[in-house]
Amino acid sequence: MRLLLLTLLLSFSLNAHFRTFFESSEHTMSGDNVMLILGKAQNAGKALPLHMPNGLVLTFGDLVAMPDFYGVVGKPISQGKSFKDRQIRFFNAFKSLAFKKKSKAEAEKIMAVIHNQRDRVLDALKKGKSLKEIKVEIGEAQNVKWNCLTGGACSGTFWWLSPGRYLNLAKEDYDHFGQDAFLAYQAGHHVSMHVAAEAGKKGDYKMLELAYALDGFACHFLTDRFSAGHIRTPRATLANKVTPSVFGSLLAGYMHTEENTYGVHVHNERGDSWMAYGDRFYLDKRNQKNRDMMAKALQNSADEIYETFEAREMIASTKNIAVLFPEADEMAPHISKDISPMFWWSKKYQTLMRRKDLNDVWKGHWTNDWWGWSTLAMLRNIKGDL
Ligand SMILES: [Zn+2]
Repeated sequence: MRLLLLTLLLSFSLNAHFRTFFESSEHTMSGDNVMLILGKAQNAGKALPLHMPNGLVLTFGDLVAMPDFYGVVGKPISQGKSFKDRQIRFFNAFKSLAFKKKSKAEAEKIMAVIHNQRDRVLDALKKGKSLKEIKVEIGEAQNVKWNCLTGGACSGTFWWLSPGRYLNLAKEDYDHFGQDAFLAYQAGHHVSMHVAAEAGKKGDYKMLELAYALDGFACHFLTDRFSAGHIRTPRATLANKVTPSVFGSLLAGYMHTEENTYGVHVHNERGDSWMAYGDRFYLDKRNQKNRDMMAKALQNSADEIYETFEAREMIASTKNIAVLFPEADEMAPHISKDISPMFWWSKKYQTLMRRKDLNDVWKGHWTNDWWGWSTLAMLRNIKGDL
C-alpha cells in the first residue's frame, strides 16, 4: 500500500510537471502576438517590455505564462466566495510575481527556461521537424527544475517529496479549467480595467503598463479555457468528490491528456464552430482555427484595457470576449462525434460518472459504481504514468 501511495505521488509530481513543460512556451507565444498601445503611436507593437513594480520586465506573453508559477497556495482565485473576493485573490496572486522583491530574480530564471523552450520549438519547426519529434527532444529535462526554481528540492530520487510552489499550485489548479477559468479571468480582467481607468485619469503611462501586465496575467486563464483538456474535464469536482483529493487531481490529469489529444468539437455564443485541441497541440495544423479564436479573444482583452484608459473610467463588461469562449458541442451522455468523456457530473443523479471502459475512448457507457484508487490503478496500467 505504501509503495502504491508512493508511486501515485510520483506520478502526480510528474503530471504536475508534464502539464506545463511545453505549454508555458505556448502561453508565451500566444500572448506575444497581441498588439499593445502604450499611449503614443510609436509605442504600439507586439511583445513590448512591461515594467513591474519590483523591477521585473516582462512581455504580455511572458505574463500569460506566469500563473502556473505564481499564485497564493491555498487561495485559488475561482474559489473566492464573491466577485470582490476573487478580485482580491487575483491581485494577491499577481503581487506575488510583480511586487515581491524576491520574485524578480526567480521569475527571470523561469522566463529564461521558457524562452529557451520556445526558441527550440520554433527553430526545430523551421528545420522541418514534426511537433512529435520536438516534444521528444525537449523531453522532461525541466522536471526537477520548476520545482527547484520555486523553492522545492533540486535533486535526488524523491525530489517531489519536497514540493516547491509550482507543485503546490498544480495540486489545486482549478482556476485553469472550465467555468473556474472563466471566473479567474473575469476577476483579473476587471482588476486590470480598474487600473487602466485610474491610469487614464492621471494620464499615467507607467500605470497603463501595469494594467496591461495585470491583464496578461489574467489572460493565462483565458488561454487555458481554449485548450481541449480544460473544457470538459470536471477538475474541481474530481478533487472534491474523490478521496483523497490528490487521487481526484490525478484522475483529472488522465482525462485532460485524453481530451487534449483527441480534441473536442466546440462552438461559441457568436455562432462559430470549430475543433479545439489541447496543451502541446497549440502549433498543430489541426489547431489553427482554435489558435485564431484564442488570438482574437486575447486581442479583445488587451484592446479593452486601452479603451478603458482612453475613456478614463470603467467601460462596459467583457461581453465581446466571453462570446468567443468555446463551449463543448457535446456533453455526456449525448455523444456522437467526440470521444466519450472519462468523467462527467450527472446533474440528474448528482453523482460523478466514469466511463465504464477506460481503454476504449469511443464507448459511451458510464457507471457511478467506481472507486478513485482502483480507477487510478487501472489507468496507470492502461496508459502508464501521466
Ligand atoms: Zn494553466
